[in-house]
Amino acid sequence: MFFIDTHCHLDDTSFGNFASNIYQKARLSGVEVVINPSRNINGFNKIKTLSNSNNGIFYSFGIHPLDISLNFRSDLDFLYKSVTDVIDDKKFIGIGEIGLDFRNIYDNTNIYVQKECFIRQLLIAEEFSLPLIIHSVKSHDIVLSFLRKRHNSGGIIHSFSGSYQQAHSFIDLGFLLGFGGAITYKRNMKVRYNASALPLDSIVLETDSPYMLPSWLNRDKGVLNSPCELISIAFTLAKLRNCSLGEIANITTKNAFNISSKLNYKSY
Ligand SMILES: [Zn+2]
Repeated sequence: MFFIDTHCHLDDTSFGNFASNIYQKARLSGVEVVINPSRNINGFNKIKTLSNSNNGIFYSFGIHPLDISLNFRSDLDFLYKSVTDVIDDKKFIGIGEIGLDFRNIYDNTNIYVQKECFIRQLLIAEEFSLPLIIHSVKSHDIVLSFLRKRHNSGGIIHSFSGSYQQAHSFIDLGFLLGFGGAITYKRNMKVRYNASALPLDSIVLETDSPYMLPSWLNRDKGVLNSPCELISIAFTLAKLRNCSLGEIANITTKNAFNISSKLNYKSY
């Protein structure tokens, strides 16, 4: 079976110098392809190096809504230049992680800055016809309205936490919905319902590692989430949908390949 972890931060400092080893371990268990989006411009070099030294690691560049710096306008200029530098890199697949996160908003300036940053990055994706890896928390309707105004090349709404109806609105715009560790908690009824009821051809798997621990990992014991957990997450999805692990592997992998032709297994 062949699995794709569509969202994983192997460049995160918590993986130390072991990111390549962790990927190779995941690969042996069947998670052959991993997409590593960036959180901010400081990660670009590390992510590119990691990707270039491991066949199955692909990457995207973007500025996460919770990682926007005071110099965000010059960061956006740097992002634009970086995208032009790597546009022909066969491992560079899109713009992300970008989006809106309205979880802990205390002032309108933050909302304004997040929106400006998001729009600028949507324009870069549009200019280069690149797919998007989107982070949307308590902002789905606004994200949808922004996406409707732009010609976009689809992509993934990662760790999808919206309603069943909002899921269909994203699907109608050409997006896939990412599900990961959140589906392993019984209390997450909405997410589990969406994962069980949405069409399987609109779903991709992710670990969001080292974040979003699945229920069987204990944060207190310092255990790290990694792409190695993807198959157990896939097994949870198979149980929720009452289908086989093989079917989950085949269809979610096929869905992920549709994001970018560069991901095609034979190309690397
Ligand atoms: Zn992420």
